[in-house]
Amino acid sequence: CGVFGIYAPAEDVAKLTYFGLYALQHRGQESAGIATFDGTTIHLHKEMGLVSQVFNESILQQMPGRMAVGHTRYSTTGSSRVVNAQPAVVETRLGSLALAHNGNLVNTKALREELLQRQCNFNTTTDSEAIAFAIAEAVNDGKDWLDGAITAFKRCHGAFSLVVGTTAGLMGVRDSNGIRPLVIGTLGSNPHRYVLASETCGLDIIGAEYLRDVEPGELVWITEAGIASYHWAQQPQRKLCIFEMIYFARPDSVMHNESLYTYRLRLGRQLAKESFVEADMVMGVPDSGIPAAIGFSQASGIPYAEGLIKNRYVGRTFIQPTQMMRESGIKMKLNPLKDVLAGKRVIIVDDSIVRGTTSRKLVKTLREAGATEVHMRISSPPVTHPCFYGIDTDNQDQLIAATKSVEDIAKQIEVDSLAYLSWEGMLLATGEDPNSFCSACFTGDYPVAVPEPLKRSKLM
Ligand code: SF4
Ligand code: MG
Repeated sequence: CGVFGIYAPAEDVAKLTYFGLYALQHRGQESAGIATFDGTTIHLHKEMGLVSQVFNESILQQMPGRMAVGHTRYSTTGSSRVVNAQPAVVETRLGSLALAHNGNLVNTKALREELLQRQCNFNTTTDSEAIAFAIAEAVNDGKDWLDGAITAFKRCHGAFSLVVGTTAGLMGVRDSNGIRPLVIGTLGSNPHRYVLASETCGLDIIGAEYLRDVEPGELVWITEAGIASYHWAQQPQRKLCIFEMIYFARPDSVMHNESLYTYRLRLGRQLAKESFVEADMVMGVPDSGIPAAIGFSQASGIPYAEGLIKNRYVGRTFIQPTQMMRESGIKMKLNPLKDVLAGKRVIIVDDSIVRGTTSRKLVKTLREAGATEVHMRISSPPVTHPCFYGIDTDNQDQLIAATKSVEDIAKQIEVDSLAYLSWEGMLLATGEDPNSFCSACFTGDYPVAVPEPLKRSKLM
C-alpha cells in the first residue's frame, strides 16, 4: 500500500494528498482514500479504483482541512471490498482518528480477539482497523493521543508504516523493524508544514523536500508546535524489506541516499559478473526489469535494446487479484518488436520470478517474434518463501522456486538458460549492512516471528 500525510494549514491539503497518492499509485491499485481534518470534522472519501477514478475536482473541493491522510490499497489481508478501503476512521473520547496503514500484522487474530472482548465493533476484517481500534481503546481508557498510540503499537507485531490523523495532530510511525518505508518531507520555507509518504516520489510530486526517514520504532508527532520524535519500541532494528528496493518501490524513489534506479543498475552489473552468457542483445522486462538490464549490458558489453513495448495504460499485472485476470493482463500489456528480435540471441532480465507465469509467456512471445535463443537473468534470488509482512507473494505452493530447482524452472519456462542473482550479491549491492534488511522470501529467515497457525496457512 501507499500512505501519505500532510500537515499544512492554509494549503489545499486534499489536493496535495491527491497528487501524493497519484505518485504512490504503484503501491496499490485496488482502492484509494483521503481523510481531511478541519478542526471540528473529518471529511472522508474512499472508493474502489485508481486515485484518478476515485477523486475529481468537486470531491476534493468539498474536503477542507489543515491536515490530511491518504491511502492507496493493495490487499494482503481482508477482501477486496470498499469497507476495507482506507483511511480507517474510528471514534474515540478525544474525537475521530483516521489511519492509513502499509504492511501486515502477524498477530491480527489475537489482537482482534482481545479487542472484541472490550466490545469493539469491527466493520472490516483488516489488520489496519484493528490498529485503529487498539489506539481508540487506549485513548478511551484515559490516555492522550500519544500515550494511547504508543500503547497500541506495542501490541502490534509485524510490519506497519502508519500515518494517523487525530484531532490534535498528525502521526507518522514505523514498526520496530522498519520493514516498510516511510519518509518525512517539508513543504516550502514555513517550518510547520510537513509531509509523510511511503516513498520520496510522493514528496517530489508536490515539491516537498526530503527531510529524513521515520526510523524503525519511531513515532513522529506533527502539531502546530512543530515536529517531535518518540522512540517507542524497546529494541528497534533495521529490517527494511529488500523487495522494496528490488522491485516494489519506484525507481526514482531515493533510499540510502540514492535512487533505486541506481541500486537496480548495480544489481544488473553484479548479475552479469555472476552469470555472463554470449548473446546479441540484452533487454529488460518492462518496466521493472529495465534498470537491471541496462546494468547487465554495461557490465557485459552486450548491446542493450528494447524488445517489448508496454502499454502504459494497463495497470501492473501483479496487483490484480485473480490468476485469471493476471494471465489475461499480460497479453494486454506487452507487445514484441519483431524486427528487433528476429534472428537474435536474447538475454532477458527481470527483477524476480514469483509464480513463473509471466516468464513463461514472455519467453514464448520472444521466440514467436523470432529470437533464436532466450537466456533469462533474474536480478534477485529464487523466491522460496511467502511474505507475511505485506507483499502478496502468494502461498508457498504457488512459488515456482519453492519446489523446483533452477534447471527445472528453466525447463518449465522454456529458456535456453536461466540464472538468478546470488543472495550475497543482492545484499552487497545495497552498500549497507547486509543484516539491515528483511530477505525472508529468499531464505525463510523471518525477522518477526510468525505465529504457527498463520505460518501453516501459507507454508507447504
Ligand atoms: Fe520483503 Fe520478502 Fe521480507 Fe516480505 S519476506 S518483507 S517481501 S523481503
Ligand atoms: Mg516485472
